[in-house]
Formats: sequence, C-alpha cells, structure tokens
Amino acid sequence: MKVPLTLFALLATIGAQPLTAAEMVKPNIVYILTDDLGYGDIGCYGATKVKTPNLDRLASQGCRFTDAHATASVCTPTRYALLTGCYAWRQAGTGIAAGDQPLLIKPGTTTLPSMLQNAGYKTGLVGKWHLGLGTPPHTDFNGEIKPGPLQLGFDYAFFIPATGDRVPCVFVENHRVVGYDPADPIRVSYGKKIGDEITGADPGAKLKIQGGPGHKDSVVNGISRIGFMTGGAAARWVDEDIADTLTTKAVKFIESNQAVPFFLYLATHDIHEPMVPHPRFRGTSGCGWRGDAIHQLDWCVGEVLATLDRLKLTDNTLVIFTSDNGGAIKNTYDDGTNALHSLQAPNGTLRDFKSSLYEGGHRVPFIARWPGHIKPGGASGELIGHVDALATFAALTGQSLEPAAGPDSFNVLPALLGEKNPQPARDHLVLQNNGEAPLALREGNWILIQQTGGRTPNKKILANNPQPACELYDLAADPAQLINLAAKEPARAKTMAARLDGLRMQGRSRPD
Ligand code: CA
Repeated sequence: MKVPLTLFALLATIGAQPLTAAEMVKPNIVYILTDDLGYGDIGCYGATKVKTPNLDRLASQGCRFTDAHATASVCTPTRYALLTGCYAWRQAGTGIAAGDQPLLIKPGTTTLPSMLQNAGYKTGLVGKWHLGLGTPPHTDFNGEIKPGPLQLGFDYAFFIPATGDRVPCVFVENHRVVGYDPADPIRVSYGKKIGDEITGADPGAKLKIQGGPGHKDSVVNGISRIGFMTGGAAARWVDEDIADTLTTKAVKFIESNQAVPFFLYLATHDIHEPMVPHPRFRGTSGCGWRGDAIHQLDWCVGEVLATLDRLKLTDNTLVIFTSDNGGAIKNTYDDGTNALHSLQAPNGTLRDFKSSLYEGGHRVPFIARWPGHIKPGGASGELIGHVDALATFAALTGQSLEPAAGPDSFNVLPALLGEKNPQPARDHLVLQNNGEAPLALREGNWILIQQTGGRTPNKKILANNPQPACELYDLAADPAQLINLAAKEPARAKTMAARLDGLRMQGRSRPD
C-alpha cells in the first residue's frame, strides 16, 4: 500500500533526518531505454518525416536534454553502466555480449534495481537484457536460468536474453524460457554450427530479409541471426509481435504494482535490427522499416503513458525516455533502410553513428517528465550520462550509497529538476565504444578522443609517447566535429589526456 504523503510528512518531523520533498513523494520511475535510436530520430529532436506524437507530447510535458550521453556507443557497456553506476571499461569482458554469455554483473553488486528495492520499490525489467545470464562457461537455457536479473535486484523480469539478431530467439520470464518444452531442449552455439536446420548462408534459405556479414547463422521466423540454436521450437518469438508482447508486459507490470512505488525498466527491442515492425506500422513513415519501427516505438511509449493516465499515476511518476547509443545507420539486413537515410538523418547533424566515439555514437535523446517537479516544455543543455542513474535515483529516494557502490555515478538530480546551480552537475564524463580502449573524455565544451591506450596505461608506451594520438574538438564552436584542434591546443590535449589516465587509474570518479 502506498504510504500517504501526510504520513511521510509526519515521519519527517519525528525522524532524525528530515526528508526532502522528493523523498516524501516517492515517485514511481519508468525508465524507457530504446535501442539504437539516434539524436535526430524523433520529432522533438528535429525529425520531420517520421512522426512521434507520443514522444513529442512527453517532451512538451517534461524537459528535453540536449547534452545527454549513453556511456558507451554500443549496447552492453551502456547497460552495464546504467545498472551499476560504474563505467564498463573498468571491468574486462563487458563488450557486446554473446547470447550465451554468463552474467556480467556480480550478484551482490549495488545496482539501480537493488538500490530501489531497498528504498521500498517493486522493480521490474521488461525488454532487452544483454548483460549475460547464468554461470560459466555458457548459459544453459534449460531449467532455471540464473543468476540473472532477479539476482541483481529485479522483483520481476520478462526479457530478451541478448539482442533481436542473436540467438536464442526466445523470451525469458524470471528464471525460465517462456513456452519451454522439456522434450525439445535448447542448445546454443556461438562457434561451430549445431543441428541440421537451414542457415542464412544456405543458398536454398527462404528469408524475409537477407542478413549481412555475421548475420547468416540460424534462421528463426525467416530471419537469419548471429549464432546457432537448436530446439525450443514452440518458444521462438515472432519478430513482428515483439513490440506488442513487451508493451503488454510493461502495462501489466504497472497495473499490478500501481498501489506501491514501482520502478519499471522498459528496454525496448525497437529500433535495433532486424527491424521487422508489425504489419500495421509498415509503410506508415515513408522511411522504410526503420522509420516504421520508430512509429511502433512511439506507439509503445504512448501505451505506457496512457496506462499511467488511466490509473491516475501520471502526476506521481517520473518518466525517462532515452536510447542506449546513437543511431545505427549501417543496417546489416537488406531491408532497404540504408538507402533512406537521406530522407531523415538518424543522428541529425552530429558526426558518425553507433560504435563511434564521435557525438553521433553516444549523444542521445533524453526526456524527463515529472509533473509538478520538472517544468514542462523546457530544454536543458546540462551534461549528463546514463551512468548517473544510480546516484541520481538514490538521491531522489533518499538512499545513501556505500563508498564502493556506483563509483562513476553522479547525482544529477538538480539538473533533472531544472534547478539553477552555479556549478554543473558534472564537469566531465568518460565515454567508450565497445571495450577498454580507446576512450573519450568530455570536459566542459571540449572532448578529447584517444586513439590509443589501454585500460591500464602502459608506462613504456607512455614514456615513448607522452601524448597519445588523439583528437580534440570544441563542441560549442564545432558541434559537428569537423576541426581537430589537437595540434593547435597541445597543452589542453595533454592536460585532458592526463586527467583521463588519472580517472582510469583511480578506479572511481564519483565525488562523494
Ligand atoms: Ca544499442
């Protein structure tokens, strides 16, 4: 049962530590993390051909951030940082995970959901996981699959184990594959082919869309994937129905937990490849299946917002909408998308795309709505990162973090709430692609992009090359990153490179 505001107020007067206004409210939190959606992909960020009325409404009722960053430019490390408050590059092996990768986050780690569980929230994951499952050497999808999300603080989980283009193509609910048949066990291989089913490399394969390099293994629902799977025939998903399924589960989670504070982490499959929107969305955007998938995504968000309205939860729910990395503009599947980018630039005027350390790789849409607390219709240029969710929501819910928890997570709640502060919530942010190096350091308007260097700086290399090869851009003057100022500003580049090395070596960057 939800504790009435008056009771919180009473507790605030008799407790040793007075509660802040935010603590007394205990808002529900809906964090919508989309996949591969670029900075220019939705109407409120400049898209004109693709229509996103629900997202535009969300932005008009909340704040639109223009300098928000996924902490990495690909899926797995961004999700790792979001849930742990720790840069993924601090832990080896946190690059894009295979579909049978053991769990990447150690149970017992303070995570975003475990912190909110401690704060009294019911916590739910619906959607894409992609942080590994089970124990080494590889995930066993037969029987109980753990450790996984439930061992990291989620009370409920309905999820895609890895990605839409990776096997196994099944949903998992809590610890079990949905629709699992013990008579048809599931095997997965990211090495040699297993089983005798047709693959995408077979000339006789009849496919809905052709998979490109690396996407020619097992065929599920007429689409070839990365990796091989056998078994689980009754459990395999139908791509056209994924958005409907995830939306239904998200709505149900909200309905089931409406009487208590809840945290819903809705990690959509859209708009990751293969982009196979439901037929009712096809042809609606004029931008191919990629644009149609954005329409589908906007519909999904609309259903979630309508549910909050219907249950009268809107005023007491903080909704965040963002993306896990920049727009991907080299679709591997031959769905015609790649030829349509001239109709609408996925990343707007930003340079490059997913997997890049340029802005197009990690600067993403970020909308925050909380009626009565976040001024409607605003825009904020504050620098924030997905790694900040842990410390920010801890502050929001009155939780204190242990020193070892969330070592890179900054409390950016003042920025989220639009409070005027002389100092920015962050004076720097480290960004990565898919591994431990190279990294980029954002500092004020400047970004240093290193082209060399490892997680632990090699002293011999540093001695011979005191200033690693790098690029330096002034984002205020040159947001499209056309002019590398590293040679013109060697002192600044050197200072920033040294700070980046320090941040690597220190093991943490959180100020308190
Ligand atoms: Ca992604």
